Amino acid sequence: MKFNTKTIHGGQEHDKAYGAVMPPIYQTSTYAQSTPGGHKGYEYSRTHNPTRHALENALASIENGNHGLAFASGLAAIDAVIKLLSPGDEVVSTNDLYGGSYRLFTKIYEDFGIKFHFIGMENADVIESYINNNTKLIWVETPTNPMMNVIDIEATARIAKKHEVLLAVDNTFATPYLQQPLDLGADIVMHSATKYIGGHSDLVMGALAVKDDALAEKLYFIQNASGAVCGPQDSFLALRGIKTLHVRMQRHCENGRAVAEYLAAHPKIEKVYWPGFETHPNHDIAKAQMNDFGGMVSFVTKGNDFDEAIKIVENLKIFTLAESLGGVESLAGHPASMTHASIPKELREKSGVVDSLIRLSVGIEDKEDLIADLKQAIG
Ligand SMILES: *Cc1c(COP(=O)(O)O)cnc(C)c1O
Repeated sequence: MKFNTKTIHGGQEHDKAYGAVMPPIYQTSTYAQSTPGGHKGYEYSRTHNPTRHALENALASIENGNHGLAFASGLAAIDAVIKLLSPGDEVVSTNDLYGGSYRLFTKIYEDFGIKFHFIGMENADVIESYINNNTKLIWVETPTNPMMNVIDIEATARIAKKHEVLLAVDNTFATPYLQQPLDLGADIVMHSATKYIGGHSDLVMGALAVKDDALAEKLYFIQNASGAVCGPQDSFLALRGIKTLHVRMQRHCENGRAVAEYLAAHPKIEKVYWPGFETHPNHDIAKAQMNDFGGMVSFVTKGNDFDEAIKIVENLKIFTLAESLGGVESLAGHPASMTHASIPKELREKSGVVDSLIRLSVGIEDKEDLIADLKQAIG
């Protein structure tokens, strides 16, 4: 089955009771048993729920995995991965990282004795120099948030295999429409399904997909034991989102390109970060591992003025000033004061998140309207 067909049919079946084409929302915490232990595969909804199960099968299918797991949020999914580790273990992580991931690693898990190395990963050889006997996990986010750096998943997977270290990829920005990390050698793919997977800014959810059975079993154990699962209503919405992922992504990419090109030609704009430009330092890797370049575009203004950047995001009318990304509607964010405020300024600026950086999640409206909006806001 090819990708577009998979989003609609992959891992999915019609409801066994009445043939409902969409899985019913099984709004139940528990399931009747005929005799102790005599049940139809479902006992308690933290452990299993048919609607969540339907979503998890679809997630596994679109990521070319064998197992999918859905969580209460993207961070809950990351949290489950880190719980595979023990005190004394080390993680090599992308430095230009989603702020909440950075906070989880440094403010929660460092206190539990796990050591994190935050490094630039555009050169895979650098990754290897941080690996030692304690290293258990490489955490990759690509394209990165918000600098749109691209990391070579296949090269990183070779290093991970050589040192018998797990490789997890945060695939939130790219989605499986653009890149399939498990096929490139990653062990775990992670999503904030809040973003493109859900696609309509109406839920908060996380997801994992893996190929390996033993690894999946450990993660299912953690999912049930820690309990950060998503409810059946949200599972239904995410599954519905998946069914249009490919058509939405196609338009996100088309509009992303139009917006990036408009901004690059604008006299008041200093720099545009979008992996589709040939001048992007990792363009060749992006071209090789991604099918297109996505709808996320970041830019800085000439003069790098904090107040001017704030004025631009306030002036936008069709782009909504808001955190998050990946919905059908266009959003604008100011990372230094919003998503990345939890990262110390010095560290933030080292990875390029300067005062005037603006991040756009380009939606699927008419691109002419989006460009007109940017034009009036930037002046
Ligand atoms: C939003 C996001 C997360 C966290 O997901 P939540 O659903 O908000 O918990 C992780 N990684 C990336 C790249 C994100 O954009």
